[in-house]
Amino acid sequence: MIKTTIAIDGFSSTGKSTVAKRLAKALGYVYVDSGAMYRAVTLYAMRNGFIELDCFDKEGLISQLDSINISFKFNPKLGFAEVYLNEENVEALIRTLEVSQFVSQIATISEVRLLLVKQQQGFGINKGVVMDGRDIGTVVFPDAELKLFMTASAVKRAQRRYDELIKRGDEVTYEDVLNNVQSRDHIDSTRDDSPLTMADDAIEIDNSNMNLEEQFEFILKLSEEKIKSFHKKKRH
Ligand code: C5P
Repeated sequence: MIKTTIAIDGFSSTGKSTVAKRLAKALGYVYVDSGAMYRAVTLYAMRNGFIELDCFDKEGLISQLDSINISFKFNPKLGFAEVYLNEENVEALIRTLEVSQFVSQIATISEVRLLLVKQQQGFGINKGVVMDGRDIGTVVFPDAELKLFMTASAVKRAQRRYDELIKRGDEVTYEDVLNNVQSRDHIDSTRDDSPLTMADDAIEIDNSNMNLEEQFEFILKLSEEKIKSFHKKKRH
């Protein structure tokens, strides 16, 4: 069975990863969370003093990129791959609001992007991949057979992220989460290198008023149609 590549981009907290994970499972594809990779580099930068509230030592971080090894290991209990930073499982540590507050700055560094994009392209070499992020359909896999671009109102997105963090036991306020979502949207869409934009051939999905089930069914249908038409084309 020939496999395809599915790219899911969009603003922060649009529920991309939830739907991408489920889609990958349903299709028997590999799911890759590219945001987790930027978050892991951010955790490394925070731990090593390259980024703090009043300091951003880009050159220092760039000089240490060789010491950063990011990998994914499938956790059968969870049903998805968790992210590792230099062999340490950092899946939970990278989801804090603190990491979210610095990650978009780290993601502006071209040297970081170059490194991670190369690795992401490697994950997709055999196709059969669902990858979510900000530049997947535009930079990482410009030839992906299916590209989706997810949006939702900032208020809805912040509420979803806030509920998630509270459920985990994090102490955050809704206002801080909303500010973070808006500030990441701004930095991600205006940076010079690979800004968040919708690819010309992407399908836009506004999920402000869709529940998870509705989104999943809609996206699964789109994916199956694309896969079918891709097979037809290959046969001719
Ligand atoms: O997807 P997630 O919200 O975890 O991504 C965290 C951050 O990583 C984004 O706000 C963005 O700054 C950066 N990112 C990126 N390119 C990607 C994925 C994430 O710049 N492909």
